Amino acid sequence: MSKLYFRYAAMNAGKSTALLQVAHNYEERGMRVLLFTAAHDHRAGQGVIASRLGLARQAHTFGPDTAFAREPLGPGLACLLIDEAQFLTPQQVRQLHRMAHVDDLPVICYGLRSDFRGEAFPGSAALLTLADDVEEMKSICACARKATMNVRIDGDGRRVQEGEQVVIGGNERYRAVCPSCFYSDDGGADAAPGLFN
Ligand SMILES: [Zn+2]
Repeated sequence: MSKLYFRYAAMNAGKSTALLQVAHNYEERGMRVLLFTAAHDHRAGQGVIASRLGLARQAHTFGPDTAFAREPLGPGLACLLIDEAQFLTPQQVRQLHRMAHVDDLPVICYGLRSDFRGEAFPGSAALLTLADDVEEMKSICACARKATMNVRIDGDGRRVQEGEQVVIGGNERYRAVCPSCFYSDDGGADAAPGLFN
């Protein structure tokens, strides 16, 4: 029987790169995959999964109203790959878990675990609860410790510690940091002043 997989990490750990590599591995063996990403993620243009290493390809998009069980997935599908999975609703995670086990379709989700306030994304909390296979993707803080948290930085380079979980169309940037830097007032700016410029 198939599984629901959750691969989580802080920002810029290579989640999209890993997803595109898995898609390539399936397709190299003549198997069909479907790619989804969040509809409101405009970093790469709507419906595009882009790796920071330069790869990019078209993807379907999901919003809060997407019903994965009823999507016209078509015949012969080998795997469903979902980027920005922190934006799934808990109900969608339930649908995907059901697809893995009832429809025998492997579903691999990539996403953030926590937001810039250190709070869970509802989709990630549901994935951590239901996924059959959970794995952390490692990344490194500027101070060389393991990065597990995310810091939001505004257009002026200042850390933002309050606000909405999701900002659409703003000038915010994000940086992956270790918990020690996360709990420092400046979010680890001293460890890597150049990264704010
Ligand atoms: Zn650090």
